[in-house]
Amino acid sequence: MSELTVVGLGPMGSTMAETFLAAGHRVAVWNRTESKTGPLVAKGARRAATAADGELLVISQIGYQAMYDSLGEAGLEGKVVVNLSSGTPDELREAAGWVAERGGTLITAGIMVPPPGIGKPGAYTFYSGPEEVLDRHAATLRALGEVTYVGEDHGLAMMYYQSQLLIFWSSLTSYMHATALLGTAGVAPKDFLPFASGIFTQLGGDGPMGYAKILADSFEAGVYPGEQNSLHMQAVGLGHAVEALEQAGLETTVPKALARLFERADAEGRGEEGLGTVIESIRKP
Ligand code: NDP
Repeated sequence: MSELTVVGLGPMGSTMAETFLAAGHRVAVWNRTESKTGPLVAKGARRAATAADGELLVISQIGYQAMYDSLGEAGLEGKVVVNLSSGTPDELREAAGWVAERGGTLITAGIMVPPPGIGKPGAYTFYSGPEEVLDRHAATLRALGEVTYVGEDHGLAMMYYQSQLLIFWSSLTSYMHATALLGTAGVAPKDFLPFASGIFTQLGGDGPMGYAKILADSFEAGVYPGEQNSLHMQAVGLGHAVEALEQAGLETTVPKALARLFERADAEGRGEEGLGTVIESIRKP
């Protein structure tokens, strides 16, 4: 088994290091606050002398500035740096140049699982950068979950990661608005849960509520049929939902922002089209 160095021992990096150890890899660990290496060294990891001590550096930190701070002026000749930290796509592209100037190769990544899911069934990570370099290390990285290569452009892994998180954050925040609204009428969260779970599942499915697929087909074709359920009708309905939240004395920033977006698409003359026409307003802020 190969050796790798895990840089950054927050909840994610620590679990990654444990997972690599459990998979039988030789693991070195480095963290800015050195005390976090202790539990991993006790489990068999080597304490790396510097963040650049190793040929395969697997980084999981708060952001890309942390990588610059940790690697400093270290030479990276021949090293492969796999960074699974959050950042902006442009930051990742810039980081690829920074690593290359020091003689190394950067693979960027976005891991789609919280610490308890690392290495478990269903875990996967988006990777971008040079595919042949990723291929050399894919067997090692597979310990964390499925290796999903999305392309050469270093920003892409983060764009896929953020696209998933936009759905995660916005849908779960809507779930909180919904739970709070029903809560004002005395409905317990557990009584609403089956309906909430149902709509999450249906939206990704194939049935009449399978809107992820219905909209993808619409976006591909560039047409948004609205005969059955027009955007105008939905803008009016969303306005009612915002009023319902207000009447219940709840916070409405996000639903109001959604309502503004729908109203804009309607005011732009696309009210008779379907919901998917909203993407046109998103594309032209
Ligand atoms: P954090 O995002 O809180 O990152 C903590 C790590 O970053 C620590 O090792 C910390 O070092 C290090 N760090 C912060 N600033 C610096 C710096 N300037 N120089 C050196 N090291 C620095 O913890 P997580 O483990 O939760 O997340 C790691 C990454 O994984 C993040 O980018 C996050 O977005 C992403 N992620 C997190 C998930 C989660 O559920 N937690 C899920 C998927 C992705 P120190 O210990 O010294 O403070």
